[in-house]
Amino acid sequence: MAVPKLEMRPLGNTGLKLSSVGFGASPLGSVFGSVSESDAVASVLEAFRLGINFFDTSPYYGATLSEKMLGKGLKALGVPRSEYIVSTKCGRYREGFDFSAERVTKSIDESLERLQLDYVDIFQCHDIEFGSLDQVVNETIPALQKLKEAGKIRFIGITGLPLEIFTYVLDRVPPGTVDVILSYCHYSINDSTLEDLLPYLKTKGVGIISASPLAMGLLTEFGPPEWHPASPELKSACQAAAVYCKEKGKNISKLAMQYSLSNKDISTVLVGMNSVKQVEENVVAATELALFGKDHETLAEVEAILKPVKNQTWPSGIQRS
Ligand code: NAD
Repeated sequence: MAVPKLEMRPLGNTGLKLSSVGFGASPLGSVFGSVSESDAVASVLEAFRLGINFFDTSPYYGATLSEKMLGKGLKALGVPRSEYIVSTKCGRYREGFDFSAERVTKSIDESLERLQLDYVDIFQCHDIEFGSLDQVVNETIPALQKLKEAGKIRFIGITGLPLEIFTYVLDRVPPGTVDVILSYCHYSINDSTLEDLLPYLKTKGVGIISASPLAMGLLTEFGPPEWHPASPELKSACQAAAVYCKEKGKNISKLAMQYSLSNKDISTVLVGMNSVKQVEENVVAATELALFGKDHETLAEVEAILKPVKNQTWPSGIQRS
């Protein structure tokens, strides 16, 4: 049987088509454990070879290490720049948050140098719930529009955890100003709250990037990193689900990828990867989904295990009343 190609999906009104599986480069900043430069480059090469055309990073990941590693990987591809889509971010740094026009304008030049690129396709305000949303609307996004005019970025995005940040900003900017939103940890087996926001986002014409399908490591056999913010209850429920799958000869990460990939309103499922093996596994999850559909039986069993913690999240950013 011929293996289907990785599906390409439109990103809102941008005209871009992204592979359904996107490459999250935060692990290349060694945030989930140390990664060698050769493994980082090999992962990027394998991802592109298997049809992944979208790569996401930030100066915050590994205090700029992720951008540098991704830059080396992209250079090693040796293909025309138009064949891949790169997103990075601004406003969140090792030193803290700064969404001022001055800082984000400087930030793009620093990122382009580390990525060894002339432009990025998507430039996103990173974790805006930690800043003033009104500053993002009135100062940061207008500064990013100037970067668009200067040809340093093609599209503007916003990212963060609480879903209400997206409606707050999108209701206050002129239509077409924000092209993309990136939500994370809200469209996976344990938390699917992004689903309720999808009709609104579609009416706004924004591209929808759903990140962290493995809930930042909760839905893996290996488990989450030390810094993971989930409650002990959520961590242990996910661990129980992973053990259940393993005993049944199934892989929780594959199940989780297929769950997220099944919703075609999501432009791309952004998964963090740091090895050729993980890249291959996640692409196989997508191609097998296209061939055979979801594993409904195991999914129902895992959903039952996770039911007591369904849609449980954690606080992020400045708490607003
Ligand atoms: P994730 O849910 O994608 O999980 C990543 C973890 O799972 C890593 O430890 C990775 O090594 C591991 N993994 C990947 N494939 C695996 C497989 N097949 N089997 C077992 N383990 C596997 O979480 P993430 O990396 O935090 O999110 C994905 C990407 O989304 C990030 O790299 C980043 O680019 C982006 N992101 C952005 C924001 C934001 O802008 N605020 C927040 C979260 C994530």
